[in-house]
Amino acid sequence: MSDNKAVLSLMAHPDDAEFMCAGTLVLLHKKGWDIHIGTMTSGDCGSAELGREEISRIRRNEAAVSAKILDGSYHCLECDDVFIMYDRQTLVKAIKLLRQVKPAVVFAPSPSDYMVDHEITSKVVQTACFACGMPNIEIEGVDPFEPIPHLYYADALESVDILGNNIEPKILVDITSVMDTKEKMLCCHESQRNWLMVHHGMDEYVLSMKRFADDRGNKIHVKYAEGFRKHLGHGYPHDNILRSELGDLVFER
Ligand SMILES: [Zn+2]
Repeated sequence: MSDNKAVLSLMAHPDDAEFMCAGTLVLLHKKGWDIHIGTMTSGDCGSAELGREEISRIRRNEAAVSAKILDGSYHCLECDDVFIMYDRQTLVKAIKLLRQVKPAVVFAPSPSDYMVDHEITSKVVQTACFACGMPNIEIEGVDPFEPIPHLYYADALESVDILGNNIEPKILVDITSVMDTKEKMLCCHESQRNWLMVHHGMDEYVLSMKRFADDRGNKIHVKYAEGFRKHLGHGYPHDNILRSELGDLVFER
């Protein structure tokens, strides 16, 4: 059991966490963990009608309302959709957030995914986890902290890389018991849900989330699951802290 019970999901866009790891966040919340949901952007391209500022304001609010369901905090690093860069400015923002939150567990997007924003975010988070303890990286207002957090990568969208190859999760979390809360969190992102509703004429937003969780669940013979892979590079913790915290709900393959 860990003394530090802070978890940070740092994904590219508002609603990425709700699709990919919110169920696991609910389970950690029930175990007394402090929940932090961060996004690189405010989702400023997530509308065909509203301007960037207006949709950003709406989506920051939707993300904060979703985090609040878990008594959690929402953090936006104010990068721009499609223009998330692996550069000093972005890394400093990410390291600063990690030093503020001091998470024991971090969730990041899949290193290979359908959108480059996700892939760059994955790299930024990888480095931010590694660098948050380095004293020579000085950032005003925050102090370095150790150890390097447990870093988990979420599934890629539709679990394929850009060449169509399947990406298999090595860790699956049974989220069946908390699907109602995951759905409630996703539905906080009303602007996106409504947009898809108009396009598809049905609630494709919620349906696609459930289809994917159902597919992950099939792998371990439960109704719904979320899949992850752990960062096992040098210096990062290797033990599966999710398994220690959530016990039999976590399957390793
Ligand atoms: Zn995204």
